Formats: sequence, C-alpha cells, structure tokens
Amino acid sequence: MQGHKAQGAQGQLDMEGALTARDRVGIQDFVLLDTHTSETAFLGNLKKRFSEDLIYTYIGTLLVSVNPYKELDIYSKKQMDIYMGVNFFELPPHIYALADNAYHTMMAEANNHFILISGESGAGKTEASKKILQYYAVSCPSTTLLDSVRDRMLVSNPVLEAFGNAKTLKNDNSSRFGKYMDIQFDIQGDAVGGHILSYLLEKSRVVHQNHGERNFHIFYQLVEGGEEDLLHQLGLESNCQHYSYLVQDECANVTSINDKNDWKTVRNALSVIDFDESDIQHLFGIIASVLHLGNVQFEADSKGYATLNKNTELRWVSTLLGINVQVLQEGLTYRKIEAKTDEVLSPFTVDHAIYARNALAKAIYGRTFTWLVNKINDSMENKEPSRKTVIGLLDIYGFEVFYVNSFEQFCINYCNEKLQQLFIQLTLKSEQEEYEAEGIGWEPVQFFNNKIICDLVEEKHRGIISVLDEECLRPGEATDFTFLEKLEEKMGSHPHFITHKLSDKKIRKTLDRGDFRLLHYAGEVTYCVVGKVSHGLSLLWSIIHVYLTDKLQFKSSLLGLTDILMSKEPWYVRCLKSNESKQPGRFDDVLVRHQVKYLGLMEHLRVRRAGFAYRRRYELFLQRYKPLCPATWPHWRGVAAEGVEVLVQHLGYLPDEYKMGRTKIFIRHPRTLFATEDAFEVC
Ligand code: ADP
Ligand code: MG
Repeated sequence: MQGHKAQGAQGQLDMEGALTARDRVGIQDFVLLDTHTSETAFLGNLKKRFSEDLIYTYIGTLLVSVNPYKELDIYSKKQMDIYMGVNFFELPPHIYALADNAYHTMMAEANNHFILISGESGAGKTEASKKILQYYAVSCPSTTLLDSVRDRMLVSNPVLEAFGNAKTLKNDNSSRFGKYMDIQFDIQGDAVGGHILSYLLEKSRVVHQNHGERNFHIFYQLVEGGEEDLLHQLGLESNCQHYSYLVQDECANVTSINDKNDWKTVRNALSVIDFDESDIQHLFGIIASVLHLGNVQFEADSKGYATLNKNTELRWVSTLLGINVQVLQEGLTYRKIEAKTDEVLSPFTVDHAIYARNALAKAIYGRTFTWLVNKINDSMENKEPSRKTVIGLLDIYGFEVFYVNSFEQFCINYCNEKLQQLFIQLTLKSEQEEYEAEGIGWEPVQFFNNKIICDLVEEKHRGIISVLDEECLRPGEATDFTFLEKLEEKMGSHPHFITHKLSDKKIRKTLDRGDFRLLHYAGEVTYCVVGKVSHGLSLLWSIIHVYLTDKLQFKSSLLGLTDILMSKEPWYVRCLKSNESKQPGRFDDVLVRHQVKYLGLMEHLRVRRAGFAYRRRYELFLQRYKPLCPATWPHWRGVAAEGVEVLVQHLGYLPDEYKMGRTKIFIRHPRTLFATEDAFEVC
C-alpha cells in the first residue's frame, strides 16, 4: 500500500505536522482518532468537519472526500501554490496534497502511480479527477513548448463530458463512461503528454432514458446552441421537443445546465484539440444523423411487417452518413438470413424494426465516441522517445442500482467488484500478507473479501459470463428462460445468488420470475433477464447483441485495466455522497454510514492503525540514514539488517516503536521517522 511502497521518507515527515497542528475542528487524519475506531466516532468526525466545510479527511494517505454540493474557495491558484511541494500532513487535508504527494513520490522513486477515485454516482469522483488534472497542468514546471499539450489535456474534459455525460436522477452531470487517464511526466517533472482509455459507455441512453433523466449533453447543446447555418446544413430544428430521442421524458431543460454556453465551450475546445473544420462537420453530421434516426417511424403493412411511409428523416440520415437510402431502408426493415448458397431477406415486424433502428443509433454513437477519444489521444500524445513516468487517474462510474437493472448495470457493478477486489489485494490483504511474510507479530483484521462475488461472475465454466457464453452459442434454442434456468442450475446454492425459484417465501415476494439477484459487496441488486426492458423483446436478444459487439472488448479491457493498475503504486480517493437531494450543507447520517461501510473504510482504518505506517528495505534504510551513526558511516561492512539495528539503537528508537522483519524495518509511527529525518536534514 502507499504507506510503504509509494511513499518516500519525505512524505512521512509530514504526519508530525498533523500531530502538533491538529485541526481544531475534528481530526484531520482518522489514524489519529485516539479513543476508538467505532463507526460512530468515524462518522461523527466526518460530520463535524463537514459542517465546517472541511470536506477532506485522511486515513493515512487515503483521502476521504464528502461532496459539499456548493462551491468552496479552496481550489484557487493560490491554494495550489500553498500545497505545491509541501509535506503531505503539514497542511489541512486536500486533494492537492494527495496529488502533490503522488507526484513527488513519483519523482523521487522514478516509478508509475495511479489514483483510484471511487464512490457512488454523484459523490464527486469526476470533480476530484478534474481537480487533480488541473493541479498537474497548472502547478508542474512548465515550458511554453508544452503549454499546448496541457491546454489539450484540460479541454479534453469538457469535450468528453459533452459526449459522455448526461443528467441522471443522481447527478446532473453524471459520467456515463469510465475513464482512465495517464498523465505523463518527463524526467524533469514536466507534464508532457496524456492518454485516455474509456470504458463501458452507456450507449442505451442514446435511445432510451429513464424518468427524470436526459440523453447525452451534446445533443441538447447542438440543438440549443448550434449556429443557424450549421443546423440548417444538418437539417435540424432548434428545438429539442422535435426529437423523440430527446423528449422521452420531457426534461430537456435543467436549471443547473446551460446547453447554449456549454456548446460554445465545446466548440472552442474542439479547435484547441486540433479538430479541423471537416472533422467538426463530420462529427456533428453524425450526431445529427442519430437525432434523425430517432424520428424514423415505422408502420405495419397488411401482413404486420414494418414499412417506412414518410422517409424525409431517413433521407437526412442517408445524406449525413453517406449511405445509400435504399440500403439503409432495407437494413432497418429486413433481416438477411444466410442460407446454404444464397441470402434470404426476412421482413421485420415494427418492433424488430424499431429495435434495429435503435441498435444502429447506439452503434453509431458508440463508435463516434471511440473515434473522439482517439482524436483526443492523438492530440495529447508525446512523441519524444525519452523516459517518462505516469500518474494514472481512474474515474469509473460507481455502483449502480436502478429500479430496473439490465446487462449494462451488471457490467458496471461487476467492474466495481473488480476494483474493490484490487483495493483489497493492494491494501488490506497485501498489508497483512507482508507482515506474515516478514514474520512480524500481528493481530489479523477481519474484512469481507469480495472475491467470492467476482468468481460468481467470471469463473471459467461456472460463472455467469460463462453461462451467457454457452447460451450465445445456441442461437435459436437459447432464450431468456433457458439462460435463467442454467444460472439456477449452476449457481443454485451460491450464497450471493438468488432467483424467485431459489428463494424462500418472504424474499420470493420481492422477486419476479424473470429476475436474478446478486448480493454485491455494496448491496443487493436485482437484474432483470426477462421482460420489462427492450421494448417487449426478449432480453437475451439484446444481451446477445450487446454481448457480441461489446462483451469481448469489455472483458479484455477490464482485464487490461487490472493489469495497468497492478503495475503501478496506488493512491486512493474515496468520495462520499452527503445527501441524495444534492443540497449544500446536508449530511445524511444513514446514507454516509452505508457508504463508509461498503467502501471498507473502517477496515482500512483498522489495518492502518494496528500496523506500521512506514517500512523500508534494510539496504535502502541504511543507505539513507547511515550518516547519522559513526558505526555505519561511511560504510557498514556487515549484514544490512544488523547495520540498521545498530543505527536505530544509536538513534534511541524504543522497542515498541519498530520491528525488524526478514528484509525490512517496520516503524509504527511516522513521528519516529520524522525525528530521524530531521536529524538527517541537520547533518
Ligand atoms: P460523480 O463523478 O462521482 O458521479 P461528480 O464529480 O460529477 O460526481 O459530482 C456531482 C456534482 O456534485 C458536481 O456536478 C458538483 O455540483 C458537486 N460536487 C462534487 N464535488 C464537489 C466539490 N469538491 N466541490 C463542490 N461541488 C462538488
Ligand atoms: Mg462522474
């Protein structure tokens, strides 16, 4: 964990600052909350600080952030300067302090890091990641040559948000995709390039939004803010009400969102990121084509098959996408069946045609988003072959529970399970395993390991994805029900899986026959397999569709992400939502308590408190501090561990302040090291 791996000696100095200059309002590091480590005390401290607008608190080097839902005057350039290069614990907790600590550790140790930002929707993840990016872009050493790269990094945000964010019930600016961004630094510490990976864009939103939600911002921005000429060229009316993909829920206008202004920001940003006029024309042509597509209506002919009567909209789609209108029309109303030697066209019903139309709209939008990310990456790319280190920022959307949860929520929640598993492996588990490996006496801390749920989803031949794989290989035979039956057969007795059939009377009432429920680490989620979604079509149908187009990419990209993260040093920001109604100053105890629980914050705190804040390999420790002791300076000729023992004896370490492991020295409290570091500075 970051305490020992990512943090250099310098970072530890600072904890002493926290000891002497304790925050008057609450404790700024939970590790220092002396009396007890109860959840109540934890929440009390958070609440007290929150009431004073102190939204950040540490657990060691992990940063807890509580969404204030109001602008705080703590993100100015002046504030950035204050935090720049100052030791971690000397100043009040801040996202800048964490960013700065990661940066300095990266520079000192010349290795790669990542900052994992987690929390549920609306908790403040995206804001946190923007603040970190701004900090690096503004505060790191600069040369004019690099300014353009930085500008691009900064403006990539409004562009990606326009295309990838939407108003949901939980958040007016909710990211509907996961984002991992590497910020690359050269050997001098300049931010010289960036690279973005996007995950799991919620494409279904293009064609359907739940009650009280909107489509992706860009559609409204274009329609509301687009210049008259442009709209004319695209065949668009300047009125959201005109587009069925935008008014399903009649909430096109949201007070917190100014589509007209945002349009200007996005247009400017696009030119900063090297989009030329023809790129921009194409991009908005495609966005407009999706709106037109949504207005394409079908009618049933005498046999009940779909026909297109009025095809003005279709003509626009054809023009904007450069596809022959006949081909388009056929594609939307017929299915090609490949028989042995020839192809047969089988006509669609109206429902199927709508499904095909929506699938096309989603596919177009999804690909455009990928193209956009690639363009942004090109513009931020640093082609210098010189050595670089990176700090990755992971802002992936949190655990989701809707009224109706489908395959998309399943993917998102599985992704969150994987990240939780990573957190467990990198902190709780590795910490304890290290004590064991080093032979350090240790009272194990109990924590819930969600590996069992990850396995339930992904295990070979047995997991849910495997069952889905098998069913996908039986087109024509497999149905939603056979899928569900197979799940029941395989998962039957699994403690985290239930269905209507498998549950007792009381629970059965809460489950439909077409549902299965998973007991995720963060809570229960009921997934709908049959009915309720997809316009009355079977879900397997849509699952297979999503699956074949996305799944391979999804699974490999998720595995790729785990690899990317495993090779770097972790830092954590845990964002908490203060209340459900997005109100400033309201701290909902029950809501916050629930998040504290499932984010594993108490376990993390216990591990941190019971353990040793600092550890370092004997060789490195000796190398750094040997000038402090005549017996080790200038050379210690014996075994490093013995040298360290001599050194710390000389420095007067008390027996319970440190432990000698097999390869490392473990120091319980940072203040011990602080004193040593102090002496080192003097000498
Ligand atoms: P998430 O990405 O976790 O879903 P966001 O970062 O989009 O959540 O935050 C949701 C909203 O909460 C923001 O649009 C903003 O209004 C508010 N918010 C979040 N973090 C802060 C902060 N540090 N200061 C002020 N407001 C914030
Ligand atoms: Mg977000």
